[in-house]
Amino acid sequence: MKERGIVLGAGISGIGAALLAKKQGMDVFVSDAAPIADTTKQLFNDHQIDWEEACHSVEKMQNANWVVKSPGIPESAQILKTFRDQDCPILSEIEFASKFTDALLIGITGSNGKTTTAMLTYHLLKNAGLNVGLAGNVGHSFAQQVAQEQYDIYVLELSSFQLDDIHGFQPHIAVITNITPDHLDRYNYDFNAYIQAKLNITKNQTTKNVLLFNADDPVLKGAVLEQKPQVKTHPFGFENMEQSNYTTHHDDAIHIVNENDHKMIATQSFTLYGRHNLLNAMAAATVADLFKVSKESIRESLTTFKGAPHRLEPVLTIQNVNYINDSKATNVNATYYALECMDAPTVWIVGGVDKGNNYNDLLPLVHEKVKAIICLGVDNKKLMETFQPIVEVMVETTSIREAVKIARKIATRKDNVLLSPACASFDLFKNYEDRGNQFKEAVRNL
Ligand code: ADP
Repeated sequence: MKERGIVLGAGISGIGAALLAKKQGMDVFVSDAAPIADTTKQLFNDHQIDWEEACHSVEKMQNANWVVKSPGIPESAQILKTFRDQDCPILSEIEFASKFTDALLIGITGSNGKTTTAMLTYHLLKNAGLNVGLAGNVGHSFAQQVAQEQYDIYVLELSSFQLDDIHGFQPHIAVITNITPDHLDRYNYDFNAYIQAKLNITKNQTTKNVLLFNADDPVLKGAVLEQKPQVKTHPFGFENMEQSNYTTHHDDAIHIVNENDHKMIATQSFTLYGRHNLLNAMAAATVADLFKVSKESIRESLTTFKGAPHRLEPVLTIQNVNYINDSKATNVNATYYALECMDAPTVWIVGGVDKGNNYNDLLPLVHEKVKAIICLGVDNKKLMETFQPIVEVMVETTSIREAVKIARKIATRKDNVLLSPACASFDLFKNYEDRGNQFKEAVRNL
């Protein structure tokens, strides 16, 4: 009898999982609690994939051998309980896809820097002529690529949600960029549960595999050491390293050090700003080195990399004032690094949905660099309370156009105007892209 699978959620990962299951000759049914896009329905029909929308009909989902769930479905959803009660394995799309490929897998996770590190790693490998795909949280389905492409290597950006339902997934190389509190609402406000979800990336790794981790991050370092995974670890960071193989950065160069090798890769012409991006570059360069990419090729690729939009993205310089879009900074740690790289007095636009933020870590940087704060959120109370004692000018607004206009009035020549919200965007915007795009539009209309 044919294997039967259920795919919950008809988003990017669900579409990919359904196509791959069908390609493997399985019987597959897609169920989405929300309406499904017309183009997606057409695609399912073209591939003879059964589907339903705006409901989950339990009677249509009997006798399943497995369920692939969208990372957007929370653990508390009733439909998951139904499958768990039937002892039906619930898999992430990543786990499912990895069963059907022999490609080498590089998994990249962390609270911040996943997209940048994944895109940079992909860029370094592709420029070196390797046959590599980029998938996961970056917006392309891993399963769909396994169904339709023939890559030798995959760079996978993995969110903690995508790692929640990992049972046997075993990346050849895993990278953890950092672990700071984020998305705690999905983990019952339990930071340890969130850490464990991130560490799932390495739980099946063996001595043949490598785990790269940011050793400057005490939480991450502690968690890796405590877990003692059966894997070769390779730390990266600016601090002193305690083992014989590591990657660091000093004197304008990345240093990749192994027992019998020491490579130096100049970073003067690296296209991205900030210490955090040097950490991302250390991780990506180390992966490339593990794939025997030459240091000349890595150096060259660091000079041609274009960062993703909404991450410290320069927008325009108007009357000598620089406008910078960092809308993707949805937590305090990302904003910390944005403020750290401000090299001129800064008008800072901040605020949105606070996911339990503690802004105290930002106080010294704000004191040093910020001349005015524009709070862009429905509820700005915590921001006002934290920063009023140290910042003279604080303004509140719920309009991004107004925020930009006020910023223009306050900023003088050579200042920066930085949108780095440290918060989610859902009070006033559809998502962080919408917020960043509206910011850019408002700046262009000044
Ligand atoms: P993610 O995919 O994990 O959200 P991104 O690369 O999209 O990470 O970056 C998200 C935000 O975090 C941006 O504001 C970016 O400037 C910042 N950021 C990027 N890399 C790091 C890092 N290594 N540590 C802290 N913040 C970072």
